[in-house]
Amino acid sequence: MTATHVETGRPPRAAGATRAAGATRAARLARLVRRQLALLGEDPERDGLRRTPERVARSLAWLTRGYAQEAESVVGGALFEEPHDNMVLVRDIEFYSLCEHHLLPFFGKVHIAYVPAGRIVGLSKLPRVVEVYARRLQVQERLTEDVAGALERVLRPAGVGIVIEAVHLCMMMRGVEKQSSQTVTSAVRGTFRDCPMTRAEFLRLVHGPR
Ligand code: ZN
Repeated sequence: MTATHVETGRPPRAAGATRAAGATRAARLARLVRRQLALLGEDPERDGLRRTPERVARSLAWLTRGYAQEAESVVGGALFEEPHDNMVLVRDIEFYSLCEHHLLPFFGKVHIAYVPAGRIVGLSKLPRVVEVYARRLQVQERLTEDVAGALERVLRPAGVGIVIEAVHLCMMMRGVEKQSSQTVTSAVRGTFRDCPMTRAEFLRLVHGPR
């Protein structure tokens, strides 16, 4: 597991102080974007670009807001004692992330399955757990492990299986321009790793007819 919870272990700050720090950071980021535009040969003062640095700063803060969140708090109280011990699968969870090598988007679908061991999670929480890790600078491989690890921690299930199918704009827009290639990653834990039948059922359900 890669630990990327930047908020963890920090002393709590007053909301006003946090807001002020956020505003300072946004202003500094906007100055950098203005400089970047100039270095690219643009005129940051021309009409269409004048407010772009502030917009980009706000957009980047939003696209990386997962650093300030963690799976435990988004799941909150939505854990329920339940003897159900068959596989639960939620597939086609849409996600958007930024690749940490090029700061370009990669996006696609996450399929999440788990076998409960005494507790289940509210299904609407699974996309929110994905958001916590997708809204950071990522590589697809680590995103897959992050989601699997978070569900293991929060749910303590008998097993977890994650498959992510994504396309990467850094592959599509630049260099080789392989427009149609899709990257598939998976992570299996517990019974999904140890039991071939469970893993086979998982993959059949993920790839089965919609
Ligand atoms: Zn990339």
